[in-house]
Order: sequence, then C-alpha cells, then structure tokens
Amino acid sequence: MSRSDRAAQIRANLETVRARIEAACRKADRSPEEVSLIAVTKTYPAEDVRILASLGVTDVGENRDQEAAPKAAETADLGLTWHFVGQLQTNKARSVASYADCVHSVDRDRLARALGDRAEAAGRRLTCLVQVNLDDDSRAGVIGPRGGVDPSDALDLAARIDEHDALELGGVMAVAPREGDPYTAFSRLYGVASRIRDRYPRATAISAGMSGDLEAAVERGATHLRLGAALLGNRRSIVG
Ligand SMILES: *Cc1c(COP(=O)(O)O)cnc(C)c1O
Repeated sequence: MSRSDRAAQIRANLETVRARIEAACRKADRSPEEVSLIAVTKTYPAEDVRILASLGVTDVGENRDQEAAPKAAETADLGLTWHFVGQLQTNKARSVASYADCVHSVDRDRLARALGDRAEAAGRRLTCLVQVNLDDDSRAGVIGPRGGVDPSDALDLAARIDEHDALELGGVMAVAPREGDPYTAFSRLYGVASRIRDRYPRATAISAGMSGDLEAAVERGATHLRLGAALLGNRRSIVG
C-alpha cells in the first residue's frame, strides 16, 4: 500500500474512532475533552506513527520494550508522548525509563522502585499508573494472564510510587477480563481509582478501554483509551 493510501485509511479509522468516543461521551453525559486517545502502535511500523502524528495524534503506546525503544528513537523528532502499556520485566526498566513518559503497567513495588531509580539516573520524571487486575481469580493468588495487582493491594502500590522522587502517581490502568461484562469490570476499576484519588488528588487518570470495549470504559469513567486495532487494523493478520 502506498503511503498516501495508508494515510487515508488511518485517517478514516481515526474519524470513526473519534465518532465512537463522542457518541459514548454523549451517552455518558461526559465531555470528549475528558477522554484522551492513546494510539497503540505495536506490530505497526514507525511510518504509521508518523502518519498518526500528522493527523494530530500526540500520544502513542507500545507493549514491548524491544519494539518500542527503536520506534521511539526513529520518531523522536515528532515530540510525541510515549506510553508503555505492557507487562514489564525489571531488567527493562532502564530502557523504558529512557523514552517513556508514562508507564501504565506498574504492578509491583520492585518495578516501581526500578523505574524510579532509572528515571532519576537519567534525569527524567516518569508518570506511573497502578495496573489493577480485574480477573476474578486475582484474589486466589493466581497471577492473571494480563498482569496487575489485586484491587486490595492497589493503594499500597500507589504509596510506593508516590514516595519516589522521580515518579509521579498518575492513577490506575486495567485491561478488562476476557470473560464477563466489561461494564462490571470497569466499575470495579472506578472504585479502586476513587480510593486512590481520595488520598492522592492528582492521581486522576483511569486508563481503561481498548478497541472492543471503549464504550464501556467511557461509561465507567475512563480518562485514557488505549486503541490499536480500531486505528491501525487487526494485528492477527500480521502476527498470526
Ligand atoms: C494491544 C493493547 C491495547 C490495544 O488493543 P486493541 O484491541 O488493539 O485496541 C491496549 N492495551 C494494552 C495493554 C495492549 O497490550
């Protein structure tokens, strides 16, 4: 596909997505300005990041450091805000802290400390969200396939983030469980977010909602939507 065809395709997708967000906001009696769009560009090339930026997208997200680091470097001239949204090993903290502005997937004390120490060493500040596990089995000590802390541990992890000088506690993030009603899951997230915000008033971010469930997320108070497929196409055809 030529660059201009690809740009036209992404532009059309972006218009559709914006219309969905506006409709969801209208239904929930919220202002679209309260809801930020993060384009998740995993598996798609840096060229698509450039196209998104040319269409006014300012925030991009990735879930693997080995893919994100070179893409962020290739597009550094665009001045984008980079969000890291995937499960993260502590030994990748140095790399991620060098280009990410916000890490959505902080799910343990050790990772918070590693990110904070690496950001500090690099002279950067990093916004961190507490990733909350909304799977029903999280309480049984089973680590959900999608990561995150048990809701009952979220406030403690928020405190660990808040106390690090190089970290800014931004709020919470979650991925809806594969099974079950996303409205119920995102309601639960909203409850966790409210408890954290009561103690840390600036931690207002609720990162929830992907291509398939953005309406439920907006209805339940999401402030950040992480959208990949709806903007760039279905990844399954590429990654198998
Ligand atoms: C891939 C990914 C997304 C985007 O998902 P889509 O269904 O493509 O919109 C959002 N959040 C996380 C954590 C992801 O890994």
